[in-house]
Amino acid sequence: MSASSAAAVADSPASLAEALSETAQTTDATGQSAYEFIRELYPICRSITGAGLRATLRAIGERIPLQLTEVASGTQVFDWTVPKEWNIRDAYIKNAAGERVVDFRANNLHVVNYSAPVNARMSLAELRPHLFTSPSHPDRIPYRTSYYRETWGFCLSQAQLDALPEGLYEVVVDSTLSDGHLTYGECVLPGTSDREVLIFTHCCHPSICNDNLTGIALATALAQFIAARPHRYTYRFLFAPATIGSITWLAKNESQVGRIEHGLVLSLLGDPAAFTYKKSRRGNALVDRVCEHVLRESFGDVRIRDFSPYGYDERQFCSPGFNLPVGRLTRSSNGEYSEYHSSADNLQLISAAQLAQAFLASIRILATLESCRAFVNQSPKCEPRLGKYGLYGAVGGKGPDDFEYALLWVLNQSDGAANLLDIAQRAAMPYATIARAAAALEKAGLLRPA
Ligand code: ZN
Repeated sequence: MSASSAAAVADSPASLAEALSETAQTTDATGQSAYEFIRELYPICRSITGAGLRATLRAIGERIPLQLTEVASGTQVFDWTVPKEWNIRDAYIKNAAGERVVDFRANNLHVVNYSAPVNARMSLAELRPHLFTSPSHPDRIPYRTSYYRETWGFCLSQAQLDALPEGLYEVVVDSTLSDGHLTYGECVLPGTSDREVLIFTHCCHPSICNDNLTGIALATALAQFIAARPHRYTYRFLFAPATIGSITWLAKNESQVGRIEHGLVLSLLGDPAAFTYKKSRRGNALVDRVCEHVLRESFGDVRIRDFSPYGYDERQFCSPGFNLPVGRLTRSSNGEYSEYHSSADNLQLISAAQLAQAFLASIRILATLESCRAFVNQSPKCEPRLGKYGLYGAVGGKGPDDFEYALLWVLNQSDGAANLLDIAQRAAMPYATIARAAAALEKAGLLRPA
């Protein structure tokens, strides 16, 4: 009986809400294509402004409809100012023999991101204050930035530094810092409602994979997935540089943010660690409850954290003047894995399988948000006779199966106040079974949305 009910519900093209039934088998290919996209983006030298950021947004725009916004340097955005645009062609340190001993072309992490131009000869002693290493991991190149202080520098492995003899070095950073624009991209997928789900991912890190090419690739894959399915909410995917990007977007869209019903910052989703969900500042928003429930139900071993004012762009969305219901989904968190902000956060740290699992987690979360609403029982005086609607087993005497049991729970609890997550938790039943029962009851005319 339950199988035929499910088939009846699936007459129309599968909606996003029905993606609750997606399994690892159906998301494997997405993990592989996300990994390939990351491999394509990995060599680009991104920053918070400039050609690398635009090239990345263009690559995303080849896969999903993406509207780019350019905001001029000098624009005031709350307490911040959009910085000068940074572009770089080359950077190196040459020894006395004219050999490049530190070479931006070998790895773009070698230059401190946002370095001002320099072209000089200097001794190793003069050069040293501009060199950054990671002594605890002597083979890794650290990732450093100088966004808001005009200076220059190089990053190299401790082993590389230790091998440099005294002598005269030629130091070149062929970059420009000049008035230009900060760029961000938005993909808006209108639903039947103008209430929005915001998905944010930062896209300003250069050759770093987990942080945050994984967020970029997964947000792109999610947008493709949702674009192909009917959905209730309007989905807004926002690809922007960390901190200054979300601040700039909020400053330019302040009057629109009331539409945001749920939001997620996606980042660091390809490493081997278990999932971490960081709650919104509100702490009890539906997105907080849904993420905790879905992750525990699907993956068991997960970390649920309360909000704290440090991390990624959830800090801006959850600043007290906005206090939006925006949480954050990662595997490892910023600063909590040894490869963080170094050359070891590379294509070997992440895997297609880990990306596929993160994709599955994300679509289950979004499908739950889509389907999770309160309903009103249209036949509330005594139980309706479910057999009449083809919803209940014809053979009496046996107990109800899971689906039938879910029908009874949904009918009993649908008083316009309890939503489907409330009901699943009260019934201690899988959310997908409760949602399938509600869909069948709505189709039979026994429920209507509250
Ligand atoms: Zn980072």
